[in-house]
Amino acid sequence: MQPNKCDLIIKGSYILTQNEERELIKDGAVAVSGKTISAVGKRADIEKEWLANETIDCGKSVILPGLINSHTHVPMTLMRGVADDLPLLEWLHNYMFPIESGLTKDLVELGARLGCAEMVASGTTAILDGYMYEDVVGKAVDETGMKAVLGEGFFKFPSPFFKTAQDAWDVIEELHNQFANHDRIKTAVTPHAVFTTDPDQLAESMKLAERLDLLWQIHAAESVPETKLTLETFGKRPIEILKEYGLLKQRTRLHHCVDVTDEEIGWIKDAGTMIAHNPQSNLKLGSGICPLTKFIDAGITTGLGTDGAASNNNLDMFDEMRTAAMLQKGFLQDPEAMPAQKILDMATLSGAEFLGFDDCGAIKSGMKADIIAIDMDKMHLKPVYNPLSHVIYSAGGQDVCLTICDGSVLYRDGKFQTADVETISREAEKAVEWALKRLKNR
Ligand SMILES: [Zn+2]
Repeated sequence: MQPNKCDLIIKGSYILTQNEERELIKDGAVAVSGKTISAVGKRADIEKEWLANETIDCGKSVILPGLINSHTHVPMTLMRGVADDLPLLEWLHNYMFPIESGLTKDLVELGARLGCAEMVASGTTAILDGYMYEDVVGKAVDETGMKAVLGEGFFKFPSPFFKTAQDAWDVIEELHNQFANHDRIKTAVTPHAVFTTDPDQLAESMKLAERLDLLWQIHAAESVPETKLTLETFGKRPIEILKEYGLLKQRTRLHHCVDVTDEEIGWIKDAGTMIAHNPQSNLKLGSGICPLTKFIDAGITTGLGTDGAASNNNLDMFDEMRTAAMLQKGFLQDPEAMPAQKILDMATLSGAEFLGFDDCGAIKSGMKADIIAIDMDKMHLKPVYNPLSHVIYSAGGQDVCLTICDGSVLYRDGKFQTADVETISREAEKAVEWALKRLKNR
């Protein structure tokens, strides 16, 4: 029998497919045609059945789906390390907002390019972002070759970015139109939080999301002080406000959900709303611990996110996966509370659902070829009893040796194929002076 032709074959010691059976293939290979996976199986079978233009042999490696970051603010890489060891509200109002109110499009684009380069080098292929000037974030994502849902963020009007609500709705619709026919980029309506907007604006923005059929994302119930502030301002808790105004819907994505009651978790479940867990940001800002197992046990789709690099302080999803697993075990004093497989599911399959991409998150025929590999030929990854264990508990983003998105190689063996990291690094250093000046003049 003549072999079928394909563009690329990727080989590795193990493939964590993340298919329905969570199949692990030893000595595996993936055949890719264009943007799509044609076949996955034993190396010997794939080599017999497929003839490729190019073969990438990852050697001693684990191949897995590209990781999906369900909550981030990519351009905040520029604020990495500018203010640490502060509570959420002080960090936001005294540091982030004064710096951000002076942001230019060029700076946002630079921060986005830096973040995208960091992410492809650490195995992330898709993100749900929220920030300002998302058109240039989209440009950086597009040119880097990743996937994204872009959210043009807004606060109570007038804000430094939008004088009126209509100004914001116009920009959001423009962003939507700009990427409406893009394969890898979508948009979302993105109010910052209940306490930084107001409920009527939130309801109005939901109408826009419904009209354009977009996701609607918001930071919600991130900390006890946020709940207190929301209670003082509106007389209700953040999730109560969202419910009262009819904002818990299938298209709704809630970030954090740390300070939530069991009743509120029930409302979120009933509405088909999804949440994103951001353990490192919650820990660093001292915001508290999300009752993650309650959401997962309730059947609520739960993605995993890094949040911005200014509250993490990196965009490494391997780091985030390990923290998510460890945190629940310690919090609940139960080592079985959050097993490795559930964590990988959050960063792949649930992430794809969270972002609204129905063709990535697993390595199987017909899915988009969003594939990464970890170089296992390292001392901290030996010996191998169970590759999944190493992915969650031993590996880090620095172990990624291959990142492919939609069939295109974005990063391989330390080399960036789509990002000019020399220029990005040089320019990013210059942003330090600008940010410090903003803080001095606040
Ligand atoms: Zn956030």
